[in-house]
Amino acid sequence: MNRVIEKDVAIVGAGPVGLFTVFEMGLLGYNCVVIDSLPQIGGQCSELYPEKPIYDIPAYPMILAGDLSDKLEEQIKPFNPEYVLGDEVTTLEGEAGNFTLTAGETTIKAKVIVVAAGAGVFTPRKPPISNLADFEGSAVFYAVKKKDQFKDKTVVIAGGGDSAVDWAVALGDICKHIHVVHRRDDFRAAEATVQKMKDLEKAGKLTLHTPYQLKELNGENNILQEVVLSQRGGEDKTLKADNLLCFFGLVPSLGPLAEWGLGIAKKKIIVEPSTMQTTVPGILGSGDITEYPGKLDLILTGFAESAIAAKTAQSIIEPEKRFKLIYTTSSGVPAE
Ligand SMILES: Cc1cc2nc3c(=O)[nH]c(=O)nc-3n(C[C@H](O)[C@H](O)[C@H](O)COP(=O)(O)OP(=O)(O)OC[C@H]3O[C@@H](n4cnc5c(N)ncnc54)[C@H](O)[C@@H]3O)c2cc1C
Repeated sequence: MNRVIEKDVAIVGAGPVGLFTVFEMGLLGYNCVVIDSLPQIGGQCSELYPEKPIYDIPAYPMILAGDLSDKLEEQIKPFNPEYVLGDEVTTLEGEAGNFTLTAGETTIKAKVIVVAAGAGVFTPRKPPISNLADFEGSAVFYAVKKKDQFKDKTVVIAGGGDSAVDWAVALGDICKHIHVVHRRDDFRAAEATVQKMKDLEKAGKLTLHTPYQLKELNGENNILQEVVLSQRGGEDKTLKADNLLCFFGLVPSLGPLAEWGLGIAKKKIIVEPSTMQTTVPGILGSGDITEYPGKLDLILTGFAESAIAAKTAQSIIEPEKRFKLIYTTSSGVPAE
């Protein structure tokens, strides 16, 4: 069913900067919806390096990237943001004061838009197989949304990182059989999970194929029947399979934002740094997605940009109101 959300501000991107934008907007009394194509908040911090330590977040001598996302979520909770996750923002209509966005089945109305889209939408890296599209969505997937879909199926999992190994283990109990295909002998995944995968192999539930690569898919009418593997200097191998799950990482791209008529340079959105205003009135930018002379792609830069964007948002939403700098020591934050 189509959901309609109406807020003062729509924030495209739930990375650290998009999340902190909720705080800065909230201080000025504006409510926000935050939309992200990923199924979770946190942007690059949660998706790419949740367990890596960050040392340049002010007042945290060290914080794990995943913990930073959790802390930001907690910090903005009093402002009650609404989240739309797992859907890419695609279309934009309207003008400052009256914008309409769509993200999947959701329609979002907002007076101001803040694009905090970081490196852009993350899309899965795909293997170079000519008939891949014939099976995408029916037998070939790049993420697992419902585990049960693979119950009693023979599944080929391709990749050597955490996602591939985690899913090989997680699906180990429900699939008929799992084949894991990786182009190297060693896996770039948590040691404990690699060990669990090897235990499944010993139990006869899983077969490892290394060093092998995907070569061909065979099947009919969108139904996959075989996955052919190749090995440099060796013989091909054909596996009977119902599904193929590819975990080769994610590639960022500007995606639909490139069609919004915004000024773009170096695959980023041009903003005026004193206001964070893009070339389209009412659409502001913040964080890694923005480009201006001297721009630094750091989380702390993005946090400061969000404070500036909030000031500009006030000039659009309440043009008659004089901007007054707020010290949170005096204002506090709303009680939850
Ligand atoms: C390995 C690694 C280590 C790093 N270490 C540090 C460090 O130590 N210190 C530091 O300051 N920075 C570090 N960075 C950089 C830091 O992660 C980025 O500066 C930060 O994530 C930018 O935050 P952001 O909110 O602007 O964008 P992102 O974190 O990229 O989030 C943007 C979000 O927007 C979403 N999005 C994009 N387009 C759309 C759309 N059309 N619809 C819906 N959603 C969309 C994306 O899915 C994404 O979740 C590191 C980066 C990496 C990869």
